[in-house]
Amino acid sequence: MADEKQKINLNRVSMPKQEPGVRARNFNEVAQGYTMEMAMEEASRCIQCKKRNCVEGCPVNVQIPDFILALRDGQMWDAARILKGDNALPGICGRVCPQESQCEAVCTLAKKGAPIAIGRLERYVADWERAQNDKPKPEVAPPTGKKVAVVGSGPAGLTAAADLAKMGHQVTLFEALHVAGGVLMYGIPQFRLPKEIVQGEVEYVKSLGVELVLDSVIGKIETVDELLADYDAAFLALGAGAPMFLNLPGENLSGIYSANEFLTRTNLMKAYLFPEYDTPIKVGKKVAVIGAGNVAMDSARCALRQGAEEVYIVYRRSRAEMPARMEELENAEEEGVIFKLLTNPKQFFGDENGWVKSMECYEMELGEPDESGRRRPVKKEGSEFIMEVDTVVSALGTYPNPLVPSTTPDMEISKKGTIVADEENGKTSKPKVWAGGDIVTGAATVISAMGAGKRAAAAIDKYLKDT
Ligand code: SF4
Repeated sequence: MADEKQKINLNRVSMPKQEPGVRARNFNEVAQGYTMEMAMEEASRCIQCKKRNCVEGCPVNVQIPDFILALRDGQMWDAARILKGDNALPGICGRVCPQESQCEAVCTLAKKGAPIAIGRLERYVADWERAQNDKPKPEVAPPTGKKVAVVGSGPAGLTAAADLAKMGHQVTLFEALHVAGGVLMYGIPQFRLPKEIVQGEVEYVKSLGVELVLDSVIGKIETVDELLADYDAAFLALGAGAPMFLNLPGENLSGIYSANEFLTRTNLMKAYLFPEYDTPIKVGKKVAVIGAGNVAMDSARCALRQGAEEVYIVYRRSRAEMPARMEELENAEEEGVIFKLLTNPKQFFGDENGWVKSMECYEMELGEPDESGRRRPVKKEGSEFIMEVDTVVSALGTYPNPLVPSTTPDMEISKKGTIVADEENGKTSKPKVWAGGDIVTGAATVISAMGAGKRAAAAIDKYLKDT
C-alpha cells in the first residue's frame, strides 16, 4: 500500500501565467498553457481508474481517461479525436469550464492530493490540434434529408449544431450578431478566452456542414413559426443577454454601465484597441463593479487593463459566498482588484455634467440562511458612507431577451421569462421546438449550456428518426 502511494504523484504540474503586474495592463491571455513536456508529465499522473468518476462529473461525458492516456503515449491525433467525439469546443472548455467543481472535483486524486489538471490537458490537446495543418476530415453520418434550425451560436447552439450535423441532419445556425459565438465573443474577455480560439472552434462546427447565418435576429426577421415552415425541428439557444439593473437613484448617470454593455464594447467591439477599432469606451480612474460573479471579475479586470487606477468589487455578502471561480478571484486579486465585501450601494451622485462622481453605500452583515442556502445579507443601520468613483459597472446578472418568447405565443414561458423545457431533453411545450442553455436555466456555465445542447440534439435526432 505504501509502495502504491509512493508511485502516485500528488502534485499537479503548474501552468505558466503572465506576471500580475504585467498582465494587468494588457489583453494577452493570462494563462499560457502547458508545453508538450508539461502536458505529458501531468497526463502521466492519471491512474486510469476503473470507476471513471471524472467522466461522470463532466456534463458532456468526455471520455477523460482515454484522451489522457493517448496524450501520455504521444498519440496526439487519437487524443484529439476522443476529446472531440464528445466535445466540439475543447479549446473553449479547457479555458473557461469550472473543472474544479465538475470533473476535477470528483477525480480520485482529489482525495489524496491535487486532482489531474483535466482542463489544462483538454486545452493542450485542442491547441495542439488547431496548430496542425493536415487535419483529418471529421466523420459525419450520411445525409438524413431532415433540416434543423438552431437559433443562437453560443455554447448550447454550437454544441447542438455540431452534434446534429454529425448525425447527418442539415443544420442552419442563426446568429443575431455579426459574428458567431454569443457570450463567448461578447462576454468573456480576450485575456481569458482569446477570440481566435472561439472562431477556430466555430470553423470546426462549420466544417461539419453547418450553415451559419449571421445578422439574423429571429423574432424580428422571422418568427419561430415562420422558421418551422422550412425546417423539421428547431433548437432555441438564445442565451440570457438582457442585463438586470440596480434600480437605485442616480443609476442613469453617465459612467454607469451594465456589465453587458461594458464587456460588449470592450470584447466584441474591441474598445481597448480604439481608435484602430471604431467603438470607444470611457473608463475613469476609480471604478466600482457591483457583483462578485465571473462577469464582475471580468469587468473589473477589463477596467484595470483600460487604465483604471483603483478598481473595487463591491459585494453585499462575504468572500465565502462570492460566486466567481476561485481561479478568477485569485487572478483579479493578484492584479490589484480590491474586494469591498459586505457593502451595498444605496444611490449615486453626479457632477455638473451628469457624470457619476460618488456612490453612497451601506455596510451589511450576514443573517440567517435564505432560500439559496447562503446567509442573507442584512443592512447595518446608520452605516452609510460615500465612495468616490467615476465609473460604475453593474454585474448583477442577466435575464433572457424577451423577443422570441413574446413572438412565440403558444410556447410556455416561466415568470422569469425563461422558456419552459424538459430538463432531460430540452423539449418545449411547442411541437417541433426544443430549447436549452441560459434561455431555459437563466445565466449558468458554458459547459452546462453545452450539456443541454447535447441532450437536445440527441432528442431531436430521435424525433426526426421516428417521424
Ligand atoms: S478520476 Fe482522475 S485519476 Fe481517475 S481516470 Fe479520471 S482523471 Fe484519471
